[in-house]
Amino acid sequence: MKFKFCPLCGRSLIEKYSWDEGGVPYCEYDDIMYFDTPKPCVVVAVVKDDEILLLKQSYIFKNSKVLVSGYVTVGETLEETVYREVKEETGITIDNIKYLGSQCIKSKELLMITFMATYLEGEIEKSAEVEWVQWESLENALCEMTEDEIGKNIVKKVLEEVQYKGHKAYSCDINSLI
Ligand SMILES: [Zn+2]
Repeated sequence: MKFKFCPLCGRSLIEKYSWDEGGVPYCEYDDIMYFDTPKPCVVVAVVKDDEILLLKQSYIFKNSKVLVSGYVTVGETLEETVYREVKEETGITIDNIKYLGSQCIKSKELLMITFMATYLEGEIEKSAEVEWVQWESLENALCEMTEDEIGKNIVKKVLEEVQYKGHKAYSCDINSLI
């Protein structure tokens, strides 16, 4: 978001030169530069043997299941966000958090940092913001996640990570059939 006014004091921002960044909106009063940065959020595929943890959250996608996701909070590492979001949304404790890459959604100014993790312990105990959480066969995941393109890309990476050799998992994936 390109700021025009200081979110703290409401004064108009001026442009201040900052090395490689060029002109950056700056509040003289608060001495703060407002860099045009994306909002970081994590997405995580939790895997237990040949199953994956899928959620239903209609406010994200009406007819599609999704992976656990959430915004990074100030003071938190990415790994801490991943651990906390899985625990909060599903009640599950995870281990072996592994980075799978990042994707961005420019229109929403989001930087999606993606991970996989393995189930450690706990029973599913969903939060109020989640309609439904369940272990789903990894082979059915791509078919269940019809609308969630970023989620599907993560599942494809997980299939590679677990060295999946079958074909069934890709049966709903148009891109793999071409
Ligand atoms: Zn200010």
